[in-house]
Amino acid sequence: MSTWDVTTRPSAISGQGLFATRAFYPSEIIVPYLGKVLTSRPVKSSESSATYILEIKPGRWIDGSDTENPARSANHSCEPTAELVMNETENFANLRASSHILSGDEITFDYGFSLSESLFNPCTCGKMSCAGKIIAEPLRPALRRHLRFIRRRD
Ligand SMILES: [Zn+2]
Repeated sequence: MSTWDVTTRPSAISGQGLFATRAFYPSEIIVPYLGKVLTSRPVKSSESSATYILEIKPGRWIDGSDTENPARSANHSCEPTAELVMNETENFANLRASSHILSGDEITFDYGFSLSESLFNPCTCGKMSCAGKIIAEPLRPALRRHLRFIRRRD
């Protein structure tokens, strides 16, 4: 039973998603992203566990794969409803609403993947602005250039 006002259920985007059980206003903390803090680069034991590893700053990662961390279910979206922000001690992150969220809305954030990571991670968020790949918003123009480059070589 989650102590946070969120629930996990199947998502139209991918697998399990994180959903609000009440309304949140912009900049309100929704749920912490909890996990073991790692100070060395984690070994990717499997593709699924890799998904939950969060680089919170250079040389520090959070392994959010624990089932006690409901935030791990949050999907990526190209038009996210939340953002991941560090708390003051920089030992964990919070999912914070970046727009008005209604009860029942899916809570999503920008996974911030690099260009190389994005190439193996298609995005299925279904938004008008979907980049087609999971990639950090500032890198999307670079992704478009990269894809054009690939097509030119075909
Ligand atoms: Zn998308």
